[in-house]
Amino acid sequence: MDRAIGSIAILGGGTAGWMAAAVLAQVLRGTGTTITLVESAEIPTVGVGEATIPPIVDFLRLLEIDQGQFMAATEGSFKLGIRFDDWRVLGERYWHPFGTFGPSVDRRPFHHMWHRLRAAGEDPRVEAYSLATALGDAGRMAFADGQGQGPLGGMRHALHFDAGLVARFLRTYSEQRGVRRLERRVEGATLKDDGFVEALVLEGGERLAADLFIDCSGFRGVLIEGALKTGYEGWSAFLPCDRAVAGLTVRDANPPPFTQAAARPAGWRWRIPLRHRTGNGYVYSSAHVSDDEALADLEREAGKLLTEPRVLKFTGGRRKAFWNRNVIALGLASGFIEPLESTSIHFVTSGLMKLLDHFPDKDFDAANIADYNAALVAEYEAARDFIVLHYQPTRRDEPFWRERAAAALPPDLAERLALYRGTGRIPHRPTELFTELSWFYVLEGMGVRPAAYDPLVGLSNLSQVREGLSGWRRRVAEIVQAAPAHDAALDLVAGRRRPAA
Ligand SMILES: Cc1cc2nc3c(=O)[nH]c(=O)nc-3n(C[C@H](O)[C@H](O)[C@H](O)COP(=O)(O)OP(=O)(O)OC[C@H]3O[C@@H](n4cnc5c(N)ncnc54)[C@H](O)[C@@H]3O)c2cc1C
Repeated sequence: MDRAIGSIAILGGGTAGWMAAAVLAQVLRGTGTTITLVESAEIPTVGVGEATIPPIVDFLRLLEIDQGQFMAATEGSFKLGIRFDDWRVLGERYWHPFGTFGPSVDRRPFHHMWHRLRAAGEDPRVEAYSLATALGDAGRMAFADGQGQGPLGGMRHALHFDAGLVARFLRTYSEQRGVRRLERRVEGATLKDDGFVEALVLEGGERLAADLFIDCSGFRGVLIEGALKTGYEGWSAFLPCDRAVAGLTVRDANPPPFTQAAARPAGWRWRIPLRHRTGNGYVYSSAHVSDDEALADLEREAGKLLTEPRVLKFTGGRRKAFWNRNVIALGLASGFIEPLESTSIHFVTSGLMKLLDHFPDKDFDAANIADYNAALVAEYEAARDFIVLHYQPTRRDEPFWRERAAAALPPDLAERLALYRGTGRIPHRPTELFTELSWFYVLEGMGVRPAAYDPLVGLSNLSQVREGLSGWRRRVAEIVQAAPAHDAALDLVAGRRRPAA
């Protein structure tokens, strides 16, 4: 008997639903597996102006989508990293940039040498060694040259885009590859005797049966929670922000090639430059500020919103299982970590890549499902700890921030901090999303200083090292000087003229 999955039903047509449809359509092409996506126009998607991280470029490559065409269709812009304003104290800023940071010295990553330079009385600057930071500060854009070890060789970028337009783009892509779309409200699901989902129950009573169900129904989790009662692990003790107010303002003349995340009295504000508009939002703790005050704060900082403000409510956390029986939750149905490091869309990609690595047959092997869940749980929890780190070392003096500085940390994060404070070392597990370097930028930016540095770095000849470093700094300055402004780079890549402001 054929045990292969013959039919897949995707519930939800937001970013997650259409990303899933596109990947499955591309990978299962020619296999005869049918893919049906059900969405309801009555239930809005969350999609706002959104920021991503560099693996989005690999996602487009997997789908054989031209980046320029994608950016033109989604009002996309480039992102070289995130600039954090006012997080430790008012008036200070730091960067979490993408790409290479300084040259490796005697095969040790440069951030170890950073600590030695400081111990030798120097005051090194991130923008001198991170090309992405220097370009971001200058409002310019450059691309990796594929030429080995220099500052350009290790350049990486991500994208900002209008998530509603992304869903539309991927819908066309998926429908062209045979995905069937149903515009219907799903009322619930029927279960088989073993508790597996048998069929979606559509409005009017019609049923849609499938072998495998992908739940992309957003925070509701219509299948993973509504039908299967999987359970949710909330993280509000670590991440108390539970609301966001969001809206669009006018575009910047030269949109900065980075996301801005500015700390505010009861949370933080994002600014995401798109090609046609600027996406803005204030992520806040409703225990510390009202919706009206949050909106007033957002408009004071970002300018008058052109669109009706949207208040979104959420509880940071994750489903107890992302894959339960024959239902896999992706996107907001699977969980949510506040969007400070743009992880949410990435976790859709990551869930999909892991699904391909664990693609089931109709037996739905329990160990296979457990392995999928364990891999994603580890990735989610390490990302959560990384986000918590952004808050903890603060010296801000509002009640929200004093509570963050005093809050208990997840045990893994407490251990990492202790190790860093003592030795300058940052443990990194290969499956983690954020590298040692990402952790370094936030630790450094938040003023956490280690007591010692890697003893092997202490053996390097400092005057030779200084020569190499001045060559690196010169090269960074030359590249920035020659690079086009971000909006000129956008025109070039998207192959079109700039819209009027
Ligand atoms: C404030 C905020 C800011 C964010 N910023 C970022 C960011 O900068 N970067 C990032 O990576 N991510 C960000 N995210 C997360 C990102 O928006 C989501 O991960 C992404 O849009 C995927 O959403 P989704 O498709 O899972 O859910 P949704 O967008 O909610 O879509 C749900 C879909 O399910 C359908 N549906 C639901 N119930 C039914 C039903 N009963 N019948 C039929 N259809 C149904 C709806 O019609 C809709 O199509 C942010 C999220 C929030 C809340």
